[in-house]
Amino acid sequence: MIHLKKLDELYLMREAAQLVSKTLCMLAKEIKPGVTTSFLDKLGGEFIRDHGAKPGFLGLYGFPKNLCISPNSEVVHGIPNDKPLENGDIVSVDCGTFLNGFYGDHAYTFEVGEVSPEVKKLLKITKESLYKGIEQCVRGKRVGDISDAIQTYCEREGYGVVRELVGHGLGRKMHEDPQVPNYGRKGSGKVLKDGIVLAIEPMINLGTEKVKFHKDGWTVTTLDKQPSAHFEHDVAIINGKPVLLSTFKYIHEALGIVSDEEASFQYDW
Ligand code: MG
Ligand code: MG
Repeated sequence: MIHLKKLDELYLMREAAQLVSKTLCMLAKEIKPGVTTSFLDKLGGEFIRDHGAKPGFLGLYGFPKNLCISPNSEVVHGIPNDKPLENGDIVSVDCGTFLNGFYGDHAYTFEVGEVSPEVKKLLKITKESLYKGIEQCVRGKRVGDISDAIQTYCEREGYGVVRELVGHGLGRKMHEDPQVPNYGRKGSGKVLKDGIVLAIEPMINLGTEKVKFHKDGWTVTTLDKQPSAHFEHDVAIINGKPVLLSTFKYIHEALGIVSDEEASFQYDW
């Protein structure tokens, strides 16, 4: 069942989502060669608690850490550990918060030092595909329109679109209906309505779409061990149109990136 949110609930959800945005910004400044993912996890957990919230992933289905941090060939659900990041790595940080009775959940894949042009392009296209999906979040369209937009944009580049893991509805639970796959048919699936909140999260591989689930019960890697990128935003439909509850603007400020990618999804409501 899809839980449609009222405006007052959406304001609260935006606070939860924006705390994720600020946590990711804080971490953006710390990500460099030599830093361990467990150190980033500790900083992230402290930052979230200092802002009166709980880390949304800690204990969720038994997850052992604050954040999911997935370098290189890890697609998602990486467990922070003591292995230092190296120059040329990429690292996806997926952060959840629980604040005001609602969850925020979004993710960004960062470059560590100097990254190859091939991998830079994977990050660029994956992030662009997220906005292609968000553009489809219009009242009366369907979930399959989001899925198709992401899949088409990424497969055109020859990338692998992960099938086993999907985006989702978001609210008082981390994972609500509907599921939002990153592949699918236009015009299929549930109809989109005002008040729906979706966590849209393309997980895109440089090589094969096939993934391996590891024995630790969490880590998912690409089968061919090539890099995988992951970007996620929290999006609401308000007055028929997509509105971002989360933002990458703080990350962009921290990294000196100039971008107007969110401009169409950031109007007053
Ligand atoms: Mg997430
Ligand atoms: Mg999610």
